Formats: sequence, C-alpha cells, structure tokens
Amino acid sequence: MPGARRDVTVGVVGGGQLALMMGQARAAAGVRLVVLAASPEDPAVAVADEVLYGTGFEETSLRALAARSDVVTFDHELVDLDALGRLVAEGVAVRPGPSALLFAVDKAHQRRALAAAGLPVPRFVVAAAGDDPDEALRGFAGPVVLKRARGGYDGRGVAFFDGPDDARATLVAWAGEGEVLVEERLELLGEAALVVVRALDGSLAPYPLVDTRQAEGMCVETRYPSRLRPDLVEAAGALGARLAATIEPVGVLAVELFVTAAGLSVNEVALRPHNTAHWTIEGTTADQFTQHLRAVAGLALAPVEATATCAAMVNLVGGPHPPRPGPDVEGVYVHDYAKAWRVGRKLGHVTALGADPDQTRVRAWESARRLGAPAREVAWP
Ligand code: ADP
Repeated sequence: MPGARRDVTVGVVGGGQLALMMGQARAAAGVRLVVLAASPEDPAVAVADEVLYGTGFEETSLRALAARSDVVTFDHELVDLDALGRLVAEGVAVRPGPSALLFAVDKAHQRRALAAAGLPVPRFVVAAAGDDPDEALRGFAGPVVLKRARGGYDGRGVAFFDGPDDARATLVAWAGEGEVLVEERLELLGEAALVVVRALDGSLAPYPLVDTRQAEGMCVETRYPSRLRPDLVEAAGALGARLAATIEPVGVLAVELFVTAAGLSVNEVALRPHNTAHWTIEGTTADQFTQHLRAVAGLALAPVEATATCAAMVNLVGGPHPPRPGPDVEGVYVHDYAKAWRVGRKLGHVTALGADPDQTRVRAWESARRLGAPAREVAWP
C-alpha cells in the first residue's frame, strides 16, 4: 500500500514458515511484527522486528506477546484458548478471536457447528471416552476415517480404515485421550481449496479457487485456476461466504473442500494463512500474508487480481537427503523456509507462473526436483 505507516504492531503466536512469510510481507502491509517463537531456529526469527520466546500454551508467554503488540494473531492453532479468552476479556485484541479459533482447534466442534449451520460435511459422529465404540460405528458400513478432534494436523491424528470393524481398536485408544470424529470415507474425485480474507468490518476479499493434491495428509501441489466445473467453482465461492458468515473470523479463512460425485463438502477450515494459497505471493496483486496482516491490524484490504494465467505451487519436503541449492528454472519462485532438514518435513515451496497450465506445472516440478526435495508426486485425476 502506498504511504502505509507502520503504526500497528502485530504479535504472532508461533515462529514457523507462515510467520516467516508474514514477516516478509510486513512492510507491504505497513505493520511491525513481534513473533512468539519456540526456539532461535524458528524460521520467522530472522525476519521479525522483535522476538519473544515461549509457546501458545503458556499464558505468561501470551501475555508477554500481548504487552508488546497492538493485536495478536497466529502462525498455528496450538494455543490455549482459555488463556486467550482471558486476554480478550481484559481488552486485548486477538484476531481471529477464540470463538472463531475454536473451529480450527477442535474438529468435532467444527463438524457440529458447520452441520448445524446447514453446510455440507461428510456424515459423522463424535465419540468420547466411555462411549460405546460399537454404537459410534454402527451407522457406518463402508470405509471410515478417524480424526482426533484436537492436536492433529498434516495427517497426524487421522487414520483410514476399510470398514468400521478395523477402526474399533484405534477408536477406543484415541477416545481415551479426547474426542474422536468418526466419518465416512468419501470417494473423492478431487480436492480444492478456497481462501477468503475477512476484514475487521466484515468485508471479504476472496482468492480464486484452486485444485489441491494431498499425499499422506499433506498438501503436495496446488494449481490455479481450478479445473472444476464452473457451477462447482461458483458453489465453492458461495460456501466460502457462508462459512465466513458462520465463523466470523478476522484474517484468512481457508476452506479445504472435498469434490465428490454429489458435489462439494467441507473437509476443514483453517484460520491462518494456508499452504494452498502460497501461490498468491507471486500469483496475485495482494498475497494472503499481506492481506492477513492488514485484516488483523484493522486496515482495509486490497483488491485481488491474478498476475498470470496459471500458477502451480509444489511443496519442498525433506527426502532421504538434504536439499541442495539448484539452478533456477525460468518463471519459478523458490521459497526456502531455512528449516533444518528432516524426512517428511515441509522445507519450502516453489511457485511457477505461466500461460499454459501443463507447462507451468512441469516447470514447478522441475524446480522442486533440481532442489532435491519434491513432494511425493501424485497424479491429478
Ligand atoms: P489434517 O487436519 O491432518 O490435514 P484432514 O482432515 O485434512 O487432516 O485429512 C487429510 C487428508 O485425508 C485430506 O486432505 C483427504 O485427502 C483425506 N481425507 C480426510 N478425510 C476424508 C474423508 N472423510 N474421506 C476421504 N478422504 C479424506
């Protein structure tokens, strides 16, 4: 934004790659950034205006962050919601607020609330410790998915079973530790993601829908524009607006969608910048990190336009060997999160822009391979 003044200090809970990319966007958003990092190795430490150490589960750390910030936001949802609620009651600006964050923190709450609002979700029940597992599984005949209500992400805390009988032992074990979502395993034609940024005044700045590919519960690749039928693209946009009205977040609302023969259903929502919108950094005039910071700082959102006909984003994931610096591929932007290499860990991403969807995608994968850290490739349907 021209002439932006850096009046507002945004405190970010967590110092991961999302906070890193918020840090890279802070000048464009016109804000200062204080990061609550877990360790000096956290990616965002290098770009923050100020760093505090601690976690989102420690009330003293959250209070220290709030004292240094005008508004508190998040890199991840590993946070003590009760402590945040106390801060809000004392007048601290927490955006998104605890009631919106609960959707991202607790999958059982999310499914119940979205179903109650009439939004399409897979058929589900919630089981807790002491519940009869056979009763919980009774309504399911085919393949099922178990999801821990809290604490799982990137495929952790999610398990797939061919039928309810196979799921019984895991259900009993997990339910002993907290609520478990039992849901039908849908036959997916594909997955898509919609990111909408909601400003403090409730106005929305949506990004175009993208198609996504997942492997082992982790996003592998996204492509813009989506190749879904125009009526489904339109339906996704309408779903995004209804979700924003239901959840009332401030900042990024990311919606992961399942595509089945019956249409779209909501897999899950996240209330922070999202992997499926990393392409917006180069692929749009106003990326998700800048828009998130502007929203939580109470500033107006910028209009969003795509800057290229096509974009493809591929995650860089730790393989058997550490990644190496690779030669550039034309029109591909490499984001290295400067994280220690570990097998299966997200280490960065690449975004290719272009005019032809297939060539754009090929260049993104070529770049990821040259760096020695492509995600496991899965074919588009
Ligand atoms: P996480 O919160 O760990 O990302 P998700 O709930 O998003 O876990 O599930 C990860 C992936 O597992 C999804 O992207 C999808 O590919 C698959 N999956 C999850 N739930 C279902 C379901 N009910 N039916 C079919 N596939 C599913």
